[in-house]
Amino acid sequence: MGGDIDIVPPAGPLARGATERKLVRADRYDRLARLIGHEELTPTGTVLMSFRVVDDKPFRFEPGHFVGIRAEVGEHGVRRSPYCIASSPNEDRTFRLLVRLVPEGPLSYYLAGLQIGDVIHFRGPSGRSMVPKETDTEVVLVATGVGVGPCLPLARHLLAQDPERSIRLYWGLRLVDDICMLDELDELARDHRSFRYAISLSQPPTGWTGLRGRVTESVPGLLKTLGDKSFCLVGNGAMTHELATGLSDFGVDERRIHEEIYFNVKHRPDPDVLEEIRERFVASDLFSPYAHQKAGLFMPETPVTASRRSRSR
Ligand SMILES: Cc1cc2nc3c(=O)[nH]c(=O)nc-3n(C[C@H](O)[C@H](O)[C@H](O)COP(=O)(O)OP(=O)(O)OC[C@H]3O[C@@H](n4cnc5c(N)ncnc54)[C@H](O)[C@@H]3O)c2cc1C
Repeated sequence: MGGDIDIVPPAGPLARGATERKLVRADRYDRLARLIGHEELTPTGTVLMSFRVVDDKPFRFEPGHFVGIRAEVGEHGVRRSPYCIASSPNEDRTFRLLVRLVPEGPLSYYLAGLQIGDVIHFRGPSGRSMVPKETDTEVVLVATGVGVGPCLPLARHLLAQDPERSIRLYWGLRLVDDICMLDELDELARDHRSFRYAISLSQPPTGWTGLRGRVTESVPGLLKTLGDKSFCLVGNGAMTHELATGLSDFGVDERRIHEEIYFNVKHRPDPDVLEEIRERFVASDLFSPYAHQKAGLFMPETPVTASRRSRSR
């Protein structure tokens, strides 16, 4: 995240030759919101928190925007972390956050321990909108864990614009105990035939009838075509990097792949893992050596094994 240093002119007249602009440490986490709702959604540590903005500045955001929260957390000192807004824009100046309790994440515990009425300091909303620029594509949302948070408001936003637009949400979780928000997901699917979702468990219980495995294992084989789709990948950077690389290898324009990474930002996909993911793709509607090699239309002298995608992030 960016630092907290603003360049502001010093107050009062300037002496000749004085630096006309100087760096001043400024706390830009100067917005205030009050906790108005708090719900523990899973026994594995997922909490849904609702806030009302109580300062007098405008509060506008788009799906994918986040707020930066700053708090003094005991022996850990001042902590700052971003959280994606998990609700739709509204006139009430409220927003929701879907927070995962992270053992090494003191701010997540601080947030989960807030009481109704407590006030937090934040900045934003800011970030990149997740709304695809294309208006005529099917939208594929792939989320892991609390990455599902902004996907619901994004789906609602897109369906409000075009109720017929096909939207598929694939949600990767580890355990059946991690599942939550089913009422909202089911309601959206009930109200919109063009919205469908599927949950993929990496550690499914016996008798689980949903998708199995990590989303990088379960999703590529479900994508019969790629050229007619826009993708939003949200959550663990390992998932977003691996899937984005696979999609890119199969010819998807990178401008159609939005990655929103919550952690594992610097993850570098393992070449063997990438090779396994490529094996699972079935689409061959876009030109790419991988797609045509699999379809038997393109036979390079040596098999294509290395990623074409040089990811510098
Ligand atoms: C753009 C963006 C949006 C985010 N939105 C959300 C959100 O909506 N909900 C949410 O709960 N978190 C979200 N996060 C993660 C959040 O900012 C914090 O990293 C997390 O809450 C831990 O907080 P911390 O500041 O105490 O510790 P940090 O120092 O930020 O993290 C401590 C450790 O926990 C790891 N970590 C962070 N999140 C997870 C996770 N979900 N699962 C496993 N390990 C994790 C980090 O990689 C790090 O190693 C987002 C992060 C980014 C960059």
